[in-house]
Amino acid sequence: MTLQLFNVLGREKQPFTPIIDGRVGMYVCGPTVYEHSHLGHAKTYVSFDVVARYLRWRGYELLYVQNITDVGHLRENEEDRVLVRAAQLNAKPMQVVETYTRSYFEDMDALGVMRPDISPRASGHVPEQIEMIETLLANGNAYVADGNVYFDVRSDEDYGKLSNRRVEEQQDESRELIGSDKLHPADFALWKRAEPEHILRWNSPWGEGFPGWHIECSAMAKKYLGANFDIHGGGIDNIYPHNENEIAQSECANHAAFANYWMLTGSLNVLDPDEGIPVKMSKSLGNYITIKDALKNWKPQTLRYFILTSHYSSPVVYGEEALASAKAGCERLMNARQLVLRQLNSAPAGGAGNGFLERLDKAQTDFRAVMDDDFNSPRGIAVLQDLTRDVNSLLNSAAEIGIDTLAAINATYQALGGDVLGLLGDEAADAGDSQREAALIELLVEMRAQARAQRDYARSDQIRDQLLALGISLEDRADGTLWKLV
Ligand SMILES: [Zn+2]
Repeated sequence: MTLQLFNVLGREKQPFTPIIDGRVGMYVCGPTVYEHSHLGHAKTYVSFDVVARYLRWRGYELLYVQNITDVGHLRENEEDRVLVRAAQLNAKPMQVVETYTRSYFEDMDALGVMRPDISPRASGHVPEQIEMIETLLANGNAYVADGNVYFDVRSDEDYGKLSNRRVEEQQDESRELIGSDKLHPADFALWKRAEPEHILRWNSPWGEGFPGWHIECSAMAKKYLGANFDIHGGGIDNIYPHNENEIAQSECANHAAFANYWMLTGSLNVLDPDEGIPVKMSKSLGNYITIKDALKNWKPQTLRYFILTSHYSSPVVYGEEALASAKAGCERLMNARQLVLRQLNSAPAGGAGNGFLERLDKAQTDFRAVMDDDFNSPRGIAVLQDLTRDVNSLLNSAAEIGIDTLAAINATYQALGGDVLGLLGDEAADAGDSQREAALIELLVEMRAQARAQRDYARSDQIRDQLLALGISLEDRADGTLWKLV
């Protein structure tokens, strides 16, 4: 079966055919770094992390580019957010963007999001942006007005093809144009003239100024992936105007198709306390939870599990109950994996369970089938949960399971739950944790034996009861005390 993905450009599920066989170029719109990232960002970037991991697991050679927006006029007729933040913090704009760029990577590292191959910054690519604007002017797709350069949307007959908006739909043009030097309300800034108080400024053929927001993605995608590349991703809320404008600029400047496939993630919502309806988590609404705050209450794997139990393109509603259920689901997988690793330490060379290898093959096949269907991570997780039910019953059977079977189960967990979904840590780390935990339990069992030898039964009972409260039961036998997780 081939990989299929839902292409927002054309709005249908399509077989994925890369431009160069076996290779994939992917560009994902990155964060604007003027504040700590929140859980809405986590949803987008964890989702694309799994897309990247799955493509690699499936054998594609992936080049993953995700920009950092650290300069640029972000919204038409709004203040520059970086400059506003810099004024609030009494800091230099580049200090602000450096602080929050580091914060972003810290959060992504904590969530187990693998870093993109290239994280280009808009501020480091101003010459490339100027060059593209000059091409657009030369091609008749842009005009200069008093030190500003605007893209002329009416010069691009395809304008609006991603979001299905048409230029003619813009209403009440005259009102929107008051106080503006644009020829049409939908025209957007490629370059803005810098007013005297504007700190971030560059020389350009049109005077001192700074780039518009959209042009950075067009210029950096072209530089690192070429004019035409495979996948462009981002959050659904940027489909218009940002993504639409990227397409217009790139295709008019390069005279080539831009990205062949567009994948957009659904938003992360929270229930409005008054209305009881889901609303998007966003900085502007003030209803956001930073990733750093969320990580104080939840393990990174729980947050990933929560995000991945919805399809990347669907919205998801954040709430304590949903997180608690994600925690339980994720722990079920982790516990089974830990049990496998623990038994692996002392498993016999022969042993039972050879028949289980077929079950593992089925899990791999099922997993690949659902992930090939537009990266369906909720169903991928369901495949792992089904497998875990069977792993648990195998491990609870009376037979002693052989080392080969246990190693194969472990490898399956590592591949599907670890390498692709990023929910299970790597084998060495998990083994390290489980070995340390086992050594601590052994130490307590030994201390209890000493207490019993000294007839200090109060102390020995206390150790047994407290271990039981932690889910560890002890069984005294003639040859010593055995412990197990219950
Ligand atoms: Zn972008």
